[in-house]
Amino acid sequence: MRYIPFNKPYYTGNETSYIQQAVQSGKISGDGIFTEKCHKFFEEKYGFKKCLLTTSCTDALELAALLIDIQPGDEVILPSYTFVSTANAFVLRGAKLVFVDSTKENPDMDVKGIEPLITDRTKAIVPVHYAGIACDMDPLMTLAKKYNLYVIEDAAQAIDSYYKGRPLGSIGHLAAFSFHETKNVISGEGGMLAINDDQFINRAEIIREKGTNRSQFFRGEVNKYGWVEPGSSFLPSDIIAAFLYAQLENIETIQSKRKQLWKCYNENLLSLQPKIQLPFIPDYATNNAHMFYIVCDGLEERMALINYLKSHDILSVFHYLSLHQSPYYEQKHDGRVLKNSDHYTDCLLRLPMYFELELSDVTRICQLIIKFYSSEFACDK
Ligand SMILES: *Cc1c(COP(=O)(O)O)cnc(C)c1O
Repeated sequence: MRYIPFNKPYYTGNETSYIQQAVQSGKISGDGIFTEKCHKFFEEKYGFKKCLLTTSCTDALELAALLIDIQPGDEVILPSYTFVSTANAFVLRGAKLVFVDSTKENPDMDVKGIEPLITDRTKAIVPVHYAGIACDMDPLMTLAKKYNLYVIEDAAQAIDSYYKGRPLGSIGHLAAFSFHETKNVISGEGGMLAINDDQFINRAEIIREKGTNRSQFFRGEVNKYGWVEPGSSFLPSDIIAAFLYAQLENIETIQSKRKQLWKCYNENLLSLQPKIQLPFIPDYATNNAHMFYIVCDGLEERMALINYLKSHDILSVFHYLSLHQSPYYEQKHDGRVLKNSDHYTDCLLRLPMYFELELSDVTRICQLIIKFYSSEFACDK
């Protein structure tokens, strides 16, 4: 039987020749020709005002936290059901995290639950577009405006996905993307900050370049460069950008294949509802097929299903232990119960999803899941 991993990085074909070109250009540090090509691609295709590649989405989030000048004691509202980087970026600057629950329909943050959490210390809201499916951004942006808060989209999973026709990452003041090898478009490790608010453009370039105005110097805007504020080194080598650019040139192919696989999963598993919950895509959102997940009925059922699939050489994975329950934060959390977040922690299961997966693989996986639920393996009473 064919072993099916959970993820497999896809190489479109031009990655190594572009890397070679970068090497031959004689400049492989940051902001070379391929970095420029990637920036332009994103700015033109999605209308982000300014894009800056970073070495990871984690870095892009840290850069964002520096940009909005998070100070000790500032409060940041974010979902509990998310990757640690969403939280780390702000905790590193001394912020207090205020967790909001996920919705019942999907793991995105419950925007209706935000307003009661806002205090005069609140500085930012960080929506995470889980599985590339948009959070409800209109009411969220209305709240942000009303209370004068920054919105930083964690768009790590959200490349090429939309909210009411607007690209994710173009709505908040700032947005962070990931090109980690588990995402749709990859560079091994890699990320990007998208800047939609002009006031941040200059400082973002400076902080990303060790706190210097080196970028302005190279554009000839200043005649020498120096240290102008505290910063770090967030820019990737042009070798990484060369890899990424090869991927970007093939984004349509990548997306269409992933969507095909996603649809195949969804159609084959529809009959299992309501025994399992399938991904919910609101009318305002598109699906970028970043992930196919199911929500089981309980922890034991999920473990049994993982083991059952494993016994057939298929790797499925769960993730996100709610951050408010984490060893690091549970004592700091204000004690509110976040029921949906905990439910996804216990019950959500991600199925294999990668470009080279075949439709026949998906069909086989689905048949096995259906068989699991019709057999004694299922622990529904
Ligand atoms: C992948 C991911 C990140 C981190 O991305 P890196 O590029 O690995 O730093 C952050 N947030 C979410 C929601 C992610 O899925």
